[in-house]
Amino acid sequence: MVPAATPVSQEVVLVGGGHSHALVLRMLGMRPWPGTQVTLVSDVSHAPYSGMLPGHLAGIYSWEETHIDLRRLCAWAGARFIHAAAAGLDLPRKQLQLHDRPPLGFDVVSINIGSTPSLGSVPGAAACATPAKPVPLLLEKWEALVAAAADGRHLRVVIVGAGAGGVEVALSLKARLGAALTVSLVHQGATILPTHNPGVRRHLQSALHQAGVTVLTGQPVTAVHPGAVDLQDGSRLEADAVIWTTHAAAPPWLRTSGLALDDHGFIAVDPTLRSLSHSFVFAAGDCASVLTAARPKSGVFAVRAARPLFTNLGRWLDGRPLKPWRPQSQFLGLIGTGSGRAVVSRGRWTAEGAWAWQWKDRIDRAFMRRFSELPPMDRTARVPDRPRSQTAATALERKATMRCLGCAGKVGGSILHRVLVRLRATHPAVVCVPPDRSDIMAGLDAPDDAAVFLPPPGRPVVQTIDHLSALVTDPFIFGRIAALHGMSDIVAMGAEPHSALVTALVPFAAESVTEEWLTQLLGGVATELGRMGALLLGGHTAEAPAAALTLACTGLAGPSPLWRKNGLLPGQTLILTKPLGTGTLFAAAMRHAAQGRWIDAAIASMLVSNQPAARLAHTHGATAATDITGFGLLGHVGEMTRASNVAARLDLDSLPILPGAAACAALGLLSSLHEDNARLLDSVSGAADLTHHPHFPLLSDPQTSGGLLLAIDPSQAPALLEALRSGPAPAAAIIGSTYPANSDPTSLISLRSRKCQETRRM
Ligand SMILES: Cc1cc2nc3c(=O)[nH]c(=O)nc-3n(C[C@H](O)[C@H](O)[C@H](O)COP(=O)(O)OP(=O)(O)OC[C@H]3O[C@@H](n4cnc5c(N)ncnc54)[C@H](O)[C@@H]3O)c2cc1C
Repeated sequence: MVPAATPVSQEVVLVGGGHSHALVLRMLGMRPWPGTQVTLVSDVSHAPYSGMLPGHLAGIYSWEETHIDLRRLCAWAGARFIHAAAAGLDLPRKQLQLHDRPPLGFDVVSINIGSTPSLGSVPGAAACATPAKPVPLLLEKWEALVAAAADGRHLRVVIVGAGAGGVEVALSLKARLGAALTVSLVHQGATILPTHNPGVRRHLQSALHQAGVTVLTGQPVTAVHPGAVDLQDGSRLEADAVIWTTHAAAPPWLRTSGLALDDHGFIAVDPTLRSLSHSFVFAAGDCASVLTAARPKSGVFAVRAARPLFTNLGRWLDGRPLKPWRPQSQFLGLIGTGSGRAVVSRGRWTAEGAWAWQWKDRIDRAFMRRFSELPPMDRTARVPDRPRSQTAATALERKATMRCLGCAGKVGGSILHRVLVRLRATHPAVVCVPPDRSDIMAGLDAPDDAAVFLPPPGRPVVQTIDHLSALVTDPFIFGRIAALHGMSDIVAMGAEPHSALVTALVPFAAESVTEEWLTQLLGGVATELGRMGALLLGGHTAEAPAAALTLACTGLAGPSPLWRKNGLLPGQTLILTKPLGTGTLFAAAMRHAAQGRWIDAAIASMLVSNQPAARLAHTHGATAATDITGFGLLGHVGEMTRASNVAARLDLDSLPILPGAAACAALGLLSSLHEDNARLLDSVSGAADLTHHPHFPLLSDPQTSGGLLLAIDPSQAPALLEALRSGPAPAAAIIGSTYPANSDPTSLISLRSRKCQETRRM
């Protein structure tokens, strides 16, 4: 028998990291739902906080201060983070459809995906204007304008829509760029800020006037062209940028979701925030509409909805009655002027002053501290039992205490059958043996006791096996990384991927949950095998405390000669194809100390296949290659120099490094394997002088799905580097060279840094 943890019996999927879901995750971290797997699906890893966005545009707040790090928040709350855009819902199957990956199953789903300004049917608006949302696109545009202004260009910006958002954006842009910018605020209605009282309008009219913003009311935009905007009166405004901040429109994919919607396409919910049409769907924030209590689309209501949403999702999971919520009818609005003042708006009341800005600043900073200062949590502490119905969950807990080992510790055949049916549908070219592959005598489409294939004559079979524990919580991405990591050994030998066998380990859980995990894990593996032209020929499943994958990979050598570790020659140039730093970054992430965007970059790098780089290296005449994995750069260089009996000099300044990796390493946030890898430094000449170099710890950093280290004649190195950088390995760099070994076998590697030498000379 194996000891039982609380097995997962229910899956909650939160779609969109809006204000409501960010707060739900914060509450979940404090009061988890035992036996429930919570997954956030978000198209961004850092969600902008609308209250501070204009302040960020004005240059008052930094990017970090205005964004909620969802990846970090999820890790802290014990939730999975899936970085993907939802594309639709399959409600009969209870699945969320995602772009470029298998759909995600759920028991209950909650939607908080916001809104975008309505571009209406204005010709040219969709192509030429920048909507205020999605915010990342707005910020990208704004940074480009700031850079152009820094080059001395005078810029003209037209802002369409004079609600609170448009007015604040106009004032913020002027506050940041002043006379370098001409801002026109165009509004179709007779007055700006139509939903606010006349006093608020007066204050902000005056602020716009003082800032030099031209306000044009009663002027619908009739067309947008590259570089200009047409107004209804026939006039034309020249514009280097058109920013669209009109009233909110619903995300278009909701129209085909099958959910009940209001007249404007927003999800119709009752006062418990549950869909009017589907009892297992909740929605909150801008994308939802409480039909009995319609309120403006505003961050304030998205924030207020978080508590009732958390309560009702918890009650739904427990099978208890839901609690209705009545949003307040009036709310406090604090509208910044970009110049250290703000206007207060509540019902008929208004006021203005620097004190109001300080008040707003205090409220906004306190809100963001809830996400940046996450209290340490003891996840091993027992969570008090909630009142639970005696349903499947309790039965599953009883079953968990009776689990057997040996062959019984594998996933049930019926689950596996369903997973394979799904995989055959999504990845037929990888899981089903194509009719023209007569060399494959037994594969997964007609499983036998073992896979059988006939290698082509004269092509040696190359085999390797690798095991990875899940270092990311997204099982599909983990499956992709594991396949790339496993096959990397094959391509580092100069062979072509042929096939793989896989063992998938998943925690004991409800059947539907296990099916989802396996489908996502194996879907990820199959995706990358397919891209490499390899087949999945068989495998095994087993229950384990945590998800993990083992891949036995097979490749075929030839026609090019195999690369062996002894292939280094003196006088060669060394090229590394991917940046270093995954070990320290994931060590930091485990301690909630890595920024989400650093982990995004690390994952993006791990998802780069080494196969195209290896092919380029072959055509350019590389004589040796290895992939950088667990032993770190130094360990793998050491293996090659020893086997080849040549020495290598590495240039610390030239090492490509992932964003945030040097910062994490400097804080001592290192992988548990680092210390062992670093022992090799004792026999590296020059190491003692360079310990303070920011790249020094990265030499011993273990890599997951790391890059290739390639050795090539110096005459060919520039062409190979150019081909790599402009193609499959944009971060590739020349990191050193080889030279004849002297008689001292302990100094086969030496380090140098021009920067350190220059600093010392000064
Ligand atoms: C310039 C501007 C300033 C504003 N200032 C204020 C203010 O000061 N105070 C205020 O109360 N309101 C303000 N608002 C309004 C406010 O932005 C919105 O009402 C608020 O953001 C709505 O919150 P939400 O949680 O519903 O959604 P959002 O905050 O918009 O969050 C939705 C999230 O879902 C993600 N997402 C979207 N589609 C998908 C998908 N398909 N799959 C996965 N993820 C997805 C988005 O990336 C985003 O992170 C402002 C709006 C603008 C445009």
